[in-house]
Amino acid sequence: MISSRLLRAKNRVPKRLFGTTNKDETDRNNKYLAATYDVCDSVISKANGIYVEDVEGHKMLDFHSGYSCTNQGHLHPKILQALYDQTKKLTMASRIFNTDISGEFAQFISETFGYEKMVPMNSGSEACECAVKMARRWGVMSKGIDNDKVTVITTHNCFWGRTIVSMSGCSDPNRYSNFGPLVPGFDMVPFNDPDALEEKLKENPNICAFMIEPIQGAAGVIVPDDDYLRRVQALCRKYNVLFICDEVQAGLGRTGYMLAHQFEEGVRPDIVTLAKATTGGVLPLSLALADSHIIDLLGKGQHGTTYGGNALGCAVAKAAIEVIIEEDLCERSRVNGAFFHNLLESLDTPVIKLVRGRGLWYSLVIDRPGQAKEFSEVLAKNGLACRNTDGESLRFAPPLTIEREQLEQAAEIILKTCKEFE
Ligand SMILES: *Cc1c(COP(=O)(O)O)cnc(C)c1O
Repeated sequence: MISSRLLRAKNRVPKRLFGTTNKDETDRNNKYLAATYDVCDSVISKANGIYVEDVEGHKMLDFHSGYSCTNQGHLHPKILQALYDQTKKLTMASRIFNTDISGEFAQFISETFGYEKMVPMNSGSEACECAVKMARRWGVMSKGIDNDKVTVITTHNCFWGRTIVSMSGCSDPNRYSNFGPLVPGFDMVPFNDPDALEEKLKENPNICAFMIEPIQGAAGVIVPDDDYLRRVQALCRKYNVLFICDEVQAGLGRTGYMLAHQFEEGVRPDIVTLAKATTGGVLPLSLALADSHIIDLLGKGQHGTTYGGNALGCAVAKAAIEVIIEEDLCERSRVNGAFFHNLLESLDTPVIKLVRGRGLWYSLVIDRPGQAKEFSEVLAKNGLACRNTDGESLRFAPPLTIEREQLEQAAEIILKTCKEFE
């Protein structure tokens, strides 16, 4: 029997309570939301662990993980518990107050990542902009570069967000064209090319920093040569330039290491940025990490954001990063990633051209130019949610909690999908 309350609700919003379709919801989204993302046909209403489910009840293995936000799996009980517990006590006080969780969280982050201090923010772009601000500040105040000439070097095809400053330091015209003047003070070199970096460093004494993703994510999981980061670090030291690692997507276990640059022994960037998986997909929270001699160059009123370091975020992020440690998600990503890599390479189909990646982060390049989006829609239909990176490649990033059996299941779905394209 339907209660009268439900009946009233039914009259008010019938579709929401009594069934809607992917098509209906897509139409509604198209009508009211800015069309700034190339969205999938599935409209998600639920998730748990490594699964997402669309509004029609179709359950899929989540091989997207909200762009690697849910490395810990969706709705992780420990993270949700921290959310509930902190919500009952204090969610927001603003940074004019320290809270009983902000110091504890900052100490935990310092001890976990080995940097003296942190700046807490919301989005990855903000964290990267903060890194650029710190580096410019260091360039002017410590290195003595002219304020108007200080320059940050980034790499071709890098991605660090879509704000005006982050699009100013990128090479994709689609991202920066027709938005008015760009922010000056950026220059670029090819990724994975230390010689090109050295050329730049030699010719321009006004460079304060080199900023890279240790593995380029949005560019399609581009893994550099094994000694690239070490060589970059040596060059940065030789030319007295800060080395910034943007670990927003690659960090927090995704590539088999807490920080992706730890793949190369002896690498320790001067500044590290984190976001995405910091809270396991529960809240936006980003961090810039550095030692005091850099971070203390930001004085009072010179950086901040209202929600940065809010009590709820601190509690949730601490729990979420503890989950990565307690559940050995880095090790699991490394071991299961290698297992999955082999599995993908063993698939007998001419449709797969190339598999590349590290940990549980892959790009699958298909030998069907221009069909990657369609391929991802067929994958979804077959039970695996993911997204194409461009016309011929797809990015895979399942939650790191995924088991081997489920990876085998994923490989079967991928093979089945390939067969449909043969
Ligand atoms: C996603 C991403 C960013 C930007 O993060 P937002 O939270 O979207 O602002 C920066 N750097 C890298 C490497 C990213 O993948």
